[in-house]
Amino acid sequence: MKKSTEMSKDSTNIKVDDVKLYINGEFVNAQAQTTFENINPFSNEVNNLVAEGRKEDMDKAVIAAKQAFKSGPWGSMKMEERMVYINRIADLIDEDVEEIASLESIDTGLPIAQTRKMIARAAENFRFYSRMVQSKLHGESYPVDNEFINYTIYKPLGVVGLITPWNAPFMLETWKVAPALATGNTVILKPAELSPLTANKLAEVMDKAGLPKGVFNVVHGYGETAGAALVAHPDVEAISFTGETTTGTIIIKNSADTLKKTSMELGGKSPLIVFDDADLERALDAAVWGIFSFNGERCTANSRVFLHKNIKDQFIEALKERVGNIKIGDPIDPTTQFGPLIDKEHFKKVSEYIELAKQEGCEVIQGIVPEGVKAGNFVPPTLLLNATNDMRVCQEEIFGPVMAVIEFETEEQVIAAANDVKYGLAGYVWTNDIKRGHRVAQAVEAGMLWVNSQNVRDLRIPFGGMKSSGIGREGGHYAIFEFYTEPKVIHIAIGDHHIPQFGKKK
Ligand code: NAD
Repeated sequence: MKKSTEMSKDSTNIKVDDVKLYINGEFVNAQAQTTFENINPFSNEVNNLVAEGRKEDMDKAVIAAKQAFKSGPWGSMKMEERMVYINRIADLIDEDVEEIASLESIDTGLPIAQTRKMIARAAENFRFYSRMVQSKLHGESYPVDNEFINYTIYKPLGVVGLITPWNAPFMLETWKVAPALATGNTVILKPAELSPLTANKLAEVMDKAGLPKGVFNVVHGYGETAGAALVAHPDVEAISFTGETTTGTIIIKNSADTLKKTSMELGGKSPLIVFDDADLERALDAAVWGIFSFNGERCTANSRVFLHKNIKDQFIEALKERVGNIKIGDPIDPTTQFGPLIDKEHFKKVSEYIELAKQEGCEVIQGIVPEGVKAGNFVPPTLLLNATNDMRVCQEEIFGPVMAVIEFETEEQVIAAANDVKYGLAGYVWTNDIKRGHRVAQAVEAGMLWVNSQNVRDLRIPFGGMKSSGIGREGGHYAIFEFYTEPKVIHIAIGDHHIPQFGKKK
């Protein structure tokens, strides 16, 4: 691929190389020589061909990763030396932010103004985990009178499998890869089949960083074949998964036979609640950004917006104006705010939900897709007015640029409605009453709540959901203590404590 600096401002002119698997430090074809087409969401033309890995390729990657963990230099490497690699990876990502961001945009349809920020943030994930592991990954000691000292240590798991979605691929992959490698595991990444480009770029970064062979592997392919083979493999110790709730349940079932540790970051249907005392301008900015950035394909999107009856009409007028003005266009154009959905199938799914909203009684208000971009999978920013929380469009994850607007009157009523959904990923509360802000934030059933803010995340905090939105947490020290390492306790006798003397003659 041409370097982004030479790139056109038009997605359709960009050519990208075919993508191979990265196994044991080499870029290789799938053993069966199978490939699949990677389609550009803006043009619906083929970006490139991708090697389609299957069980035999996954087996090969697991052998390489196991070998690298057990007998390669990675397993016995000093922490300081390992961190040199981790920081080098961050530097190499930084050097290539422009190119990686461009690849991400033509692969996913996400506007480049947004992918640039995500890629820069991805580099930070590595630096953050280098610092976190060096400063925080230590155990505890438990002196037991004069008889014992017990202490804990945290050991890497071994080979870990990382399975990721297409909506913010590079960022979500590095959320997992950085803590996995920093804690000393070896990795097999199975990226989403709809967004393989930047995972391949990550393999190039690892290669350039000189990571020992087999420490990091990428096997592209379909979920039901490559992904399932990773989940079922007896030598893979854990699976960290981000994706749909239904896929998460399949993975949990399929990982049961080999008793794997799993982490699940799943879907959402997050509420944003605006009380009548809120700073309405800021609430409006946050509500619009929270559902229409990432083209609406954001797990923590505020897809249900609850408006207090006193401010509902004025808020809706402002929403209508914003929706009509969001700049829809080519993802590679730096002025674009809103791009196409990932593929035709997802376009159809989101469009069907908008039709369903009409049948369920909503008034649908939409932005206008410019004539020049009609080849792309564009569903314009969409408002569903007069929605009620029991509608299917308010209960099911649409995962597109669709905001359902629901009126409420009392605090109790809005908390009950916000919680009357199977998901529990995120929530947003807008009020200038400090007590109410805390109260509602604590009452909404979600893993992450923001009061008077959009989704802003410090890398130290836990990320994840409850109910059908997931199990476990990523981020911060949660990732390194609760997932990518195993606590181990060592009991040391420091005196002559009592040992029962079975069978000893008196
Ligand atoms: P998906 O579940 O269809 O696919 C995710 C990954 O799982 C892909 O790599 C896919 O190939 C793989 N996969 C599919 N079937 C599999 C199987 N049987 N075994 C193993 N792997 C399998 O999800 P998607 O459509 O790529 O992503 C969108 C979903 O991800 C949305 O529901 C969104 O809310 C969710 N998401 C959640 C978070 C979070 O942190 N909670 C973040 C981003 C996205």
